[in-house]
Amino acid sequence: MPNMSLTKVTMPEQKADVRNKNFDEVALGYTKEMAMEEATRCLNCKHQPCKNGCPVGVPIPEFIQEVATGNFEEAYKIITSENALPAICGRVCPQENQCEGKCVRAIKGEAVGIGRLERFVADYHMAHGNAPELKIESNGIKVAIIGSGPAGITCAGELAKKGYQVTVFEALHKTGGVLSYGIPEFRLPKDLVQKEVDSVAALGVKFETNVVVGRSITIDELQEQGYQGIFIGSGAGLPRFQNIPGENLNGVYAANEFLTRVNLMKGYEFPKHPTPIKITDTVCVIGAGNVAMDAARTAKRLGAKNVYIVYRRGAQEVPARAEEVHHAKEEGIIFKLLTNPVKIEGEDGWVKSMECVEMELGEPDESGRRRPVVKEGSNFIIETGTVIVSIGQSPNPLIRQTTPGLETQKWGGIIVDEASMKTSKDGVYAGGDVVTGAATVILAMGAGKTAAQAMDEYLSTK
Ligand SMILES: Cc1cc2nc3c(=O)[nH]c(=O)nc-3n(C[C@H](O)[C@H](O)[C@H](O)COP(=O)(O)OP(=O)(O)OC[C@H]3O[C@@H](n4cnc5c(N)ncnc54)[C@H](O)[C@@H]3O)c2cc1C
Repeated sequence: MPNMSLTKVTMPEQKADVRNKNFDEVALGYTKEMAMEEATRCLNCKHQPCKNGCPVGVPIPEFIQEVATGNFEEAYKIITSENALPAICGRVCPQENQCEGKCVRAIKGEAVGIGRLERFVADYHMAHGNAPELKIESNGIKVAIIGSGPAGITCAGELAKKGYQVTVFEALHKTGGVLSYGIPEFRLPKDLVQKEVDSVAALGVKFETNVVVGRSITIDELQEQGYQGIFIGSGAGLPRFQNIPGENLNGVYAANEFLTRVNLMKGYEFPKHPTPIKITDTVCVIGAGNVAMDAARTAKRLGAKNVYIVYRRGAQEVPARAEEVHHAKEEGIIFKLLTNPVKIEGEDGWVKSMECVEMELGEPDESGRRRPVVKEGSNFIIETGTVIVSIGQSPNPLIRQTTPGLETQKWGGIIVDEASMKTSKDGVYAGGDVVTGAATVILAMGAGKTAAQAMDEYLSTK
């Protein structure tokens, strides 16, 4: 008889007024007993709607049944048959729009905590499991992967399992893409990202860091060096700005730059680490997506007293995950909705204040959301020394500028055939944010997997 509780087993987490001063993980994870109890809420439906909601097709009911009976290692094998990065996906996937969004239990009450169970299984395996025995026979075919984010590492892992000699070229000194430099430690511990990257390296994948493809070496040169298949997973790391006066003042950061300075360059330990970061009493974050929430919560942890999310639309339109908004509010982040910055004022080259206008919502625009319209004469000033701009990213132009024959969209995304992720250039595939624009970890992984399958078909018949 399934457990008919309408709510998920509560996930223990750090208290808001404690965690907003440290970088330790917010959610603490289930115990064995909690996981087994939550697993008994699964009805093991025949038609498996949750599985259809997962972009990489994890056999969800099957792994949950193993958790319910305490076979955690078996559950791990089932998950990793389709998903190489379960500890990451269990933490950062927007499950509410995917597997859990389709869960029958969500019709009346809360969905089964699929993400929480996935996280539990992955963490349990890391603490207690053995590395699987690997018997991979090399086929001698060299492939290159550009970028070590979720798209790149998934594609690399899938091809390595099939026997390809895979080398990942990464521009930064650290692997993991946004998982390492973007998503903060308090949501995704970095030792965990490293362990998942290590498990891909254990399949024989070589990682070459500090290689900027397009500058250190081009795609044509990689092909000349014998890489018969190439996958571009270089993400969308180029920030957009509002183009308002004052955006080039000191104290204005793009959210990606701000988070990279903190996560990767340890800016908060300046001068012990050489990258400075300036946090003033008041910090304004422009935008209200997941990246904005991460930047705001990071600024709070770095000591800012007042952190504002400044967003031109209303609460209904906030694009960040509900859980992130909830956590941000609990931690004391203040939401200034229906507010749009028009000018940043400076003093001696540094930000001093930001002028904003109030907005109201008009008719729906092409995105289907109600268009924000300026309320005449509503201008007001926020005294602030730090402004973090988080209004979206697009792909860096370097690869498209240095790769003849590679077709891209006007906004910079690489054009692919969606069934195979093949680009307009022979032997070259692409996937993840560089194709879709800023999206999600699991969609990037799905693209990496589709590309690996298509690359294998192409290379094995070539
Ligand atoms: C702060 C932040 C928070 C987010 N939170 C979530 C979340 O909670 N849940 C979620 O699902 N998604 C989240 N996302 C989105 C998600 O992280 C991305 O959709 C995903 O990482 C895209 O994966 P990718 O492999 O395509 O690119 P990336 O992760 O961006 O990796 C691309 C890699 O390519 C490298 N690279 C770029 N150019 C070159 C070059 N020329 N040569 C060599 N290497 C190159 C980059 O250095 C980088 O390491 C977040 C994003 C950000 C920025």
